Amino acid sequence: MGEVLVLVEQVDGAVKKVTGELLTLARDLGTPSAVWVGPGFGDAAAAALGEFGAATVYVADAADLAAHPVAPKAEVLASLVAEKAPVAVLIASTADGKEVAGRLAVRTDSGVITDAVAVSAELVATQSVFGGSTVVHSSVTRGTPIFTVRPNSTAPVAAATTPARADVSVTLSDAATKATVTGHTAATKGGRPELTEAAIVVSGGRGVGGAEGFAVIEALADSLHAAVGASRAATDAGWYPHQYQVGQTGKTVSPQLYIANGISGAIQHRAGMQTSKTIIVVNKDAEAPIFELADYGVVGDLFAVVPQLTEEIGKRAH
Ligand code: FAD
Repeated sequence: MGEVLVLVEQVDGAVKKVTGELLTLARDLGTPSAVWVGPGFGDAAAAALGEFGAATVYVADAADLAAHPVAPKAEVLASLVAEKAPVAVLIASTADGKEVAGRLAVRTDSGVITDAVAVSAELVATQSVFGGSTVVHSSVTRGTPIFTVRPNSTAPVAAATTPARADVSVTLSDAATKATVTGHTAATKGGRPELTEAAIVVSGGRGVGGAEGFAVIEALADSLHAAVGASRAATDAGWYPHQYQVGQTGKTVSPQLYIANGISGAIQHRAGMQTSKTIIVVNKDAEAPIFELADYGVVGDLFAVVPQLTEEIGKRAH
């Protein structure tokens, strides 16, 4: 089986969940090889990558690779594509990941498909477009197929192995060093998972009624170790910060479980959440369009329903 390169997403040496998802997907396409760019590779990272079946880890850990944003990753991948002729390259569909994919496509004269939610063994990608109203199947016809895959679209499944380490040294081009990272400021965040990475998202909309109403949404989220999301009506009203907005002009999420509370289901909101695996809706209007997407729905006042749900989950957790 041919080799499939997976670009590792990591923060300070800790491998992010999406990488396990991409390695799981890569196993359907060929033999997965992880590509690590930047300092911080160690035993913990090797174990995290081996857990999901990485046969090889290509390690490019020179300090200067982290001194410049995005471009070094594309250059390391481009050199591996030239040397190894992989059957495909998989990259997380994050803002950085899509930029890496675009640069890699130009450098390798290859086709790129972004925001895939699945890739078949025949290398056919599935995308959900136009607010999810259309499903597109497409494949790359030139060069090495490059796919960016949305976080949470594949459930990570362990297939433990001990990866071989192969060191890679790349001399960065002048173009790759034109932008330099001058500092890092950690985003302030609470104990909840990051919205686009979370396996469960609990969202609130205008039906929550005000900023204080989000306390019931947060309580449910915390009982499930979930992230909190919000509709634009809620963020525009200042009830919840804009960074938590889900939808066309907010974040795209694709969790295993999405719970929409007091959200009507406008097309722009659906665009950001309708590839969620299971959708639960709580809305007092039985005619609300969001019920069209629901796997399970409760017609009722969220202030009556959600606290009961939280309480019941709390009982079962102990
Ligand atoms: P509403 O549509 O007002 O729905 C509120 C729902 O809450 C209703 O269904 C009601 O029955 C229910 N409800 C009320 N009280 C309760 C209660 N006590 N218990 C249970 N249910 C209750 N929207 C986004 O979300 N994300 C985007 O990224 C986004 N981008 C946009 C981009 C553009 C260019 C435009 C034009 C719009 C965009 N919108 C976006 C806005 C979108 O069109 C809707 O206006 C918005 O999603 C509505 O939010 P909502 O469902 O919370 O509010």
